[in-house]
Amino acid sequence: MAKKQSSFKKDVRLYKRLLTYLLPVKWAFFLSFVGFGLYAAMDVLAVDILQYLIDSLGGESAAIGNIETGGIVANLLANTLNISDPLTMAKTLIPILMVLIAVFRGFGSFMGNFFMRYVGNSVVLKLRNELFEQLTQLPMAYINNKQSGKLVSRITFNVEQVTSAVTNALTTLFRDGLTVICLFSYLVYVNYKLTLTFLVVIPLIGLIVNVVSKRFRLISHRLQNSMGDITQVVTEAVNSSQDMRVYGAQASENSRFQKATLYNFRQKIKEAVADAALSPTVQILLTFAIALLVWIGLNSHSVSSLSPGSFVAYLVAAGAIAKPFRQVTSVLSIIQKALAAAEDIFTQLDEVTEKDTGVKTLPSVKGHLRFDNVHFTYPGAEKETLKGISFYAKPGEMVALVGGSGGGKSTLAGLIPRFYDATDGRITLDDELIDELSLDNLRSHIALVSQHVVLFNDTVAKNIAYGSMGDHSFEEIERASRLAHAHDFILRLPQGYDTPIGDNGVLLSGGQRQRIAIARAILKNAPILIMDEATSALDNESEQLIQSALLDVMKDRTTLVIAHRLTTIQRADKILVVQAGQIVEEGTHDELIANASHYAKLNQPSSPPY
Ligand code: ADP
Repeated sequence: MAKKQSSFKKDVRLYKRLLTYLLPVKWAFFLSFVGFGLYAAMDVLAVDILQYLIDSLGGESAAIGNIETGGIVANLLANTLNISDPLTMAKTLIPILMVLIAVFRGFGSFMGNFFMRYVGNSVVLKLRNELFEQLTQLPMAYINNKQSGKLVSRITFNVEQVTSAVTNALTTLFRDGLTVICLFSYLVYVNYKLTLTFLVVIPLIGLIVNVVSKRFRLISHRLQNSMGDITQVVTEAVNSSQDMRVYGAQASENSRFQKATLYNFRQKIKEAVADAALSPTVQILLTFAIALLVWIGLNSHSVSSLSPGSFVAYLVAAGAIAKPFRQVTSVLSIIQKALAAAEDIFTQLDEVTEKDTGVKTLPSVKGHLRFDNVHFTYPGAEKETLKGISFYAKPGEMVALVGGSGGGKSTLAGLIPRFYDATDGRITLDDELIDELSLDNLRSHIALVSQHVVLFNDTVAKNIAYGSMGDHSFEEIERASRLAHAHDFILRLPQGYDTPIGDNGVLLSGGQRQRIAIARAILKNAPILIMDEATSALDNESEQLIQSALLDVMKDRTTLVIAHRLTTIQRADKILVVQAGQIVEEGTHDELIANASHYAKLNQPSSPPY
């Protein structure tokens, strides 16, 4: 019971939170409500007119007033216009009324549907943008732990689920809910005793709907996860298409994908069973109620007080209630889907963004970088990755990090722009603790060329002047490209600097992409430059050229280089050998070679470096 209560409370909280997304467009919401109200009213009016029409066909008996002609509006109209003969009224005004009803009903339906879609799409717009903005600010720990496919599917699929709920469910709730209310009030008005019969089946229907809707929620959660799985497999297959082909992984990828789609299919089928069974069940129960009405109506005294028109109209109205009533119950499945999707979306929106508690900003820094007994453990990991790292790099110095793969070099470099926060120890930039600086300010002093060069679907020039560097002049971009030895090959591209780079830069070779990334870093002109295997994809010749160019660039800044090929760091002012999270050796190339220890071993041509 307590559990039921709390899940109910949770649902109410979810509804309330979803409602905050509707508030900015409440005017559209209101117009939609008015539109559907008009639609529902016209439905009842049509039955009302029918009632009058049938009674007026009673001709004489109606005319001589034996039986009162039913129909609220038509009678009202006849009285106002002083038309005493129902048949005259039926011949002249009723056809006009029928057309008018259809026109207003159509207009109401348009208004209701259009404005509700407006509301739904506004919610998508807001949710998507919020999710993406949140994504750009989430800590690296969150991003690294999540499968990218799931994040993508949340923004594409889950958000759509919420809209479909807002538009479809609210449309049905408004349109059909209001129709049910209007028709029901009409039934009470025409004969409340008969209407009581109707009420007998309502609790039964409620019970069925409750059970089914719980099942819908469960299936919807599973469906969302499975959509995430599908997107994940596709993303991986696209990103690793070459490896997949070379390593003959097509069959296993196909079977992974088929497993994901089969799971999705099974859930869809389960959903379909519940969805398809709900409507007919409700329909049968309602028909049962109507049959009961006919039986009671024809066997009891209550019918004698009704005109034939009223009785037919009553049955028509009772029958007409079935469809909207069914629709209202079917909406529950959509609402459950939406709530499941909304839960997932709000969970991400509630994730804490990167901790940005630093308030200091340094307009410019010289580049004194100091690590003082820094320890670091990845969130959730058991073992420490960095175990007491201490070093100092002064402006203009090139510090190289070498050592076996997995030693912690990239992790160490990642602590400088605070992708992760050190668990212990101090990292300072120009004697300021980096966590006292605001993230934006700290990162504005750092340029990074990472192992995985990611280029964006834009022109070459825009890829170099990326992010907040958009206002750099073309001359500056060109100068940076020259220094990165990228200028010549860029000019050879079909549209030079304006050549669009395909998705993730597929038009360029690995070395070319790296040179663009280096040009980007040079353009940023930051006092701290981090190069994580930045020249690994270059051939020897280009690497030599870039090295000499970089010497120029590095002159006034602090450069941290992680290098695979030891030839590239021989000129470093300081080489740190990192192994198992510790600096095991430190010195210049010559000193370390003379030491004949770790570095010297790494340097032996006969032994594979890592
Ligand atoms: P290197 O750059 O020297 O090759 P890394 O810094 O990439 O080494 O990795 C150091 C250690 O940290 C490795 O054992 C690796 O498995 C672990 N590691 C790297 N990234 C993560 C992460 N996001 N979460 C948990 N552990 C990680």
